[in-house]
Amino acid sequence: MAEDKSRLELIEALAKRRGFFFPSNEIYGGIAGFYDYGNIGTLMKRKLENLWRKYFFGLDDNFFEIEAANIMPERVFVASGHKENFVDPTVKCRKCGTVHRADHIVEDYLKESFEGMTPVELTELIRQHKIRCAKCKGELEDVSILNMMFPLQVGADLEVKAYLRPETAQGAYVNFSRQFDIQRKRLPLGLAIVGRAFRNEISPRQLTTRMREFTQAELQIFFDAADIDKHEKWNEVKDYKLILYPVAGRGKNPEEVTCEDANKKMDIPKFYAYHLAKVQQFFLEKLKVSKEKFRFRELSAEERAFYNKMHWDVELNLETVGWKEVGGVHYRTDHDLSGHGKVSGQSQEVFFNEKKFVPHVLELSFGVDRIVFALIDLNYDADEKRTVLKLPPAVAPFSASVFPLVNKDGIDKKAEQIYESLKSDFDVFYDDSGSIGRRYARADEVGIPFCITVDHHSLEDGTVTVRDRDSTKQERVKVGELKERLK
Ligand SMILES: [Zn+2]
Repeated sequence: MAEDKSRLELIEALAKRRGFFFPSNEIYGGIAGFYDYGNIGTLMKRKLENLWRKYFFGLDDNFFEIEAANIMPERVFVASGHKENFVDPTVKCRKCGTVHRADHIVEDYLKESFEGMTPVELTELIRQHKIRCAKCKGELEDVSILNMMFPLQVGADLEVKAYLRPETAQGAYVNFSRQFDIQRKRLPLGLAIVGRAFRNEISPRQLTTRMREFTQAELQIFFDAADIDKHEKWNEVKDYKLILYPVAGRGKNPEEVTCEDANKKMDIPKFYAYHLAKVQQFFLEKLKVSKEKFRFRELSAEERAFYNKMHWDVELNLETVGWKEVGGVHYRTDHDLSGHGKVSGQSQEVFFNEKKFVPHVLELSFGVDRIVFALIDLNYDADEKRTVLKLPPAVAPFSASVFPLVNKDGIDKKAEQIYESLKSDFDVFYDDSGSIGRRYARADEVGIPFCITVDHHSLEDGTVTVRDRDSTKQERVKVGELKERLK
């Protein structure tokens, strides 16, 4: 445990030192649960977001990105159910005033899961087992509930009640009928939003893995519920093995199950299984997460969000904090669109497949900050000699760095030329300060896959040294072949 903690601290220190992320408003002491990204972290996050866009919009030419307001009127959340149901049970200490998640404090004490229990039931458990404050051992008050949305008032007289959105999804739902008309009235229709979401978490923790303001990349796929057990590209995935951790297999190892078997033996509809396969391939093939570190965890009826009929989380087994949810595939049915139809008075029905109906929604949801953190966690490697982030090149902040061995004899000029010529095709970083050893160390710590060094030979034979980050092997490459090599 002590080792895990120190690894988390090492990553925190690296993130600060190299400009990945650090607490927001640090000079004012900050507020728990808010982080800012520095220049390096921002580059990495954008690369991840763009990789996500390219991959998921590539699945279907009727999938698009839209952008929606962060502040939404109260009625949106009456319709979605968040006003009533997006709550956590809390319990306050009579002595020190600390507010705890009531289910967590009971779970920590009794080592059992109590998700989905009512405040009255949790209060009874606390009284029965004489559970005390985890901080000061003081007596606890009765359990109450806290809505996790941030309320706002908008307008000169603050007359409009609104909230910061707790998920990007609602922005896609309130725009559905307009987008359906614009996009030639075809289903399935995918609407994605990459943007901020806000939740008043009771105990933000573990750096950027549980924040109060965070970035989601979510794709809402609207479809005809009658088509849920088909997908036109089913043959592409039917033999692909999903890594599943079902409710029935809790406590055992995850199972590898082909999409075909998941469909036939586990009642996972084809439309759902297809997208599980595509999500898994994104993590394994694009983000190079190893199979052993990945699983889909099925949530039970008590654990699922109130709007989901079927829910498998994407979990990654992190070195620092163990299995961590970084995304999910959620079958939200017509819950949201029907809710908006009722509360807004504007029907969300469509005419498609020669009938009138409210489309169902499959949501692919991803926590961008958690994935950034996971990639740093899984690829962080340190020994006595060096600290290196072995990031997959697709999300490394820079593709390569260029060093002049010395800043004289025309070597610096040559290095600058090479840097300029690579800049149009790659994100490259020019570094001419400190010893070569220090420059390598800096590049390793931010995960730059290749270091290109220009030396005296370069002027004579037109070659440079290319050092591979992971093996530290160096070889001489002709300047004219650099672009090909980097690709
Ligand atoms: Zn206390």
